[in-house]
Amino acid sequence: FQGCTSLGQIIDRSVELYPERLAVVSGDRRLTYREFYEQVCRFAQVLRRDGVKPGDPVAVISRNCAEFLVAEFAILKLGAVAVKINWRFAPEELVDLLEFNRVRHAIARYERWDWGQKVYERTKDHITFYLINPDERGVSPFQAAIDSAPPAERFVPGPADPEAPALRVHTSGTTGRAKCVVHTNGALLEQLRNCSSVLAFSAGGIFQMTSQLFHIACVGAYLTLAVGGTLVLMSRFEVGEYLAAFDREKVTGISVIPVVLKRLLESPQFKEYDFSHLRFLNYSTCPMSKALLEEAIEKLHCDFYQSYGMTEMASIVTVLSPEDHFSDNGKHLSSVGKPIPGVEVRIQRPDGTVCPPGEEGEIVVRGPGQMKGYFTDDPTLNQQVLVDGWYHTRDIGWLDQDGFLYLRGRKDDLIISGGENIYPMEVTNVIMQLTDDVAEAVVYGIPDEEWGERIKASVVLLPGSRLTGEEIKTYCLEHMPHYKAPKEVEILPELPRNSTGKVMLCALRPHPEEI
Ligand code: ATP
Ligand code: MG
Repeated sequence: FQGCTSLGQIIDRSVELYPERLAVVSGDRRLTYREFYEQVCRFAQVLRRDGVKPGDPVAVISRNCAEFLVAEFAILKLGAVAVKINWRFAPEELVDLLEFNRVRHAIARYERWDWGQKVYERTKDHITFYLINPDERGVSPFQAAIDSAPPAERFVPGPADPEAPALRVHTSGTTGRAKCVVHTNGALLEQLRNCSSVLAFSAGGIFQMTSQLFHIACVGAYLTLAVGGTLVLMSRFEVGEYLAAFDREKVTGISVIPVVLKRLLESPQFKEYDFSHLRFLNYSTCPMSKALLEEAIEKLHCDFYQSYGMTEMASIVTVLSPEDHFSDNGKHLSSVGKPIPGVEVRIQRPDGTVCPPGEEGEIVVRGPGQMKGYFTDDPTLNQQVLVDGWYHTRDIGWLDQDGFLYLRGRKDDLIISGGENIYPMEVTNVIMQLTDDVAEAVVYGIPDEEWGERIKASVVLLPGSRLTGEEIKTYCLEHMPHYKAPKEVEILPELPRNSTGKVMLCALRPHPEEI
């Protein structure tokens, strides 16, 4: 990243050093750094010709694909702002978001023609679209525009201002409506430097990515491209496709969320593949069960990294290093590790005073990757979360004497039943101990006239299990104080999840009218 002052420049060194190395592999597209750079600079000229100026918001709405990255880097190279929007949103939401962001240019790939058509019809008067999908002649308008643009040599990049916004990216929307986070070039560059000093992204590495590029997990893609690695992009997670690509590309690094890891390890195909080329596995985003982690460590002989972070901090704030998975007899295995360089983590009481090691409170953080702020029309939103330079995460946790951070759960998920505070994660962990039968479980509070809230668990069983909700209730009563045991247990075929793989409690809780 030496000498870079804008995010768009992070690919330049790799292009210079490794022009013939593969930069991006996605479906049947394989682009070397030279080809990738050519496409980026050509598309940047298309956007400029069509009126995009530095600082203008340009939307990208697409599943993971090579074109997504071409579009994104073209936007960044112009000094414009890449507005990344979840392609799963319904047409009405997409239209609202495009308007709210005052977007005039959008690169899009629709999954359902009728949905795409709705968005197009309602916005075509003021938005220029570049469609990735092929038209009736089998030609992608996005690709056709690139092919007819002047070659890369003719391209003159836009301003590279570290203070200028580079990205608008949305949070996962786990606790409510997704929030739109603004990051500057400088913050992202500094964050990438710090991440690369603790993670194992290296030149020649082959990194397989299944999380969506429109989330802050895109940092993994930037890190790969910045060091001259190859990015193997999956447009979705399907075990067979994932393993086939893993094997074909001889992948050396993967990043997974716990559900994905579980599906991989459980899959009958798992045993057919050779994992010896895998050097590191990074897990993050959701709490990982100890049993699953131990199983993975036993089956995959590679380095394990856990990271904890959030969109507002441009991803990672702490990392549990491979060594610390085992140091002090595995004492820190249940922690999310220590702050990465440049990041400070503090635990606070509600009155703002700082908790000593061992005491639980809200996790507040500060560091170079901190957002400029939410892009919002509610002026109080930023004041609520950014206080004296510290970002308030609404996650609850504690630090130990050695500086390792332990998560207890989210402030918003805390259950208060009969005046007692109950952290759902604790109850979930007990249910998960029934590992022979339980695939997944989630615990939450539902309104109760007598107790304020009562504890409910939704559980997914492994195929063939005959366990009942009543049996799980009894098991819980035997293994934890009664006030913490769920009063209701429901068995579900699967849990509702959002696009980062987090369980959507709002979809499980009864609707206000039903209470
Ligand atoms: P929203 O803010 O819209 O409600 P979100 O907080 O899920 O959604 P993200 O920014 O994608 O959106 O996720 C950050 C959150 O994910 C963290 O605040 C934390 O609760 C959770 N998280 C991140 N890493 C881990 C991890 N390693 N283990 C457990 N939870 C994690
Ligand atoms: Mg959040």
